[in-house]
Amino acid sequence: MNNQQRAMAAVAKAKKEGILLPLDGSIQCMDCDKPAAHYDHRDYLRPLDVDPVCVRCNFRRGSAKNNDKGNSTFRTISISMAGSLKDKLKIAATNDSRTVSNFVMKILSDWLDKEAAKS
Ligand SMILES: [Zn+2]
Repeated sequence: MNNQQRAMAAVAKAKKEGILLPLDGSIQCMDCDKPAAHYDHRDYLRPLDVDPVCVRCNFRRGSAKNNDKGNSTFRTISISMAGSLKDKLKIAATNDSRTVSNFVMKILSDWLDKEAAKS
């Protein structure tokens, strides 16, 4: 579980136990006074330090501090490329005894290191 998931689980538990009030429309959004729909975290390492906010304000506020999702796990991205480039990549990856995905990761990582060394 990442910090965000732990924080959200703590809020769900606190609501169940009556520590946090249910957001049934009677509590106002802290930012705009509309009925609050979510408890918003500003720091996922402070799981019960939350603000009641409406959906719109929660979206506008964005992610909280200490959001560690993506730091320890791989994300899949999809990219479009010309078929001829894809074929070249396949050949180069095969020659390097790697999968295309692993090969792209290697050359991208090498390139990023080289770019970082420039500055
Ligand atoms: Zn609001």
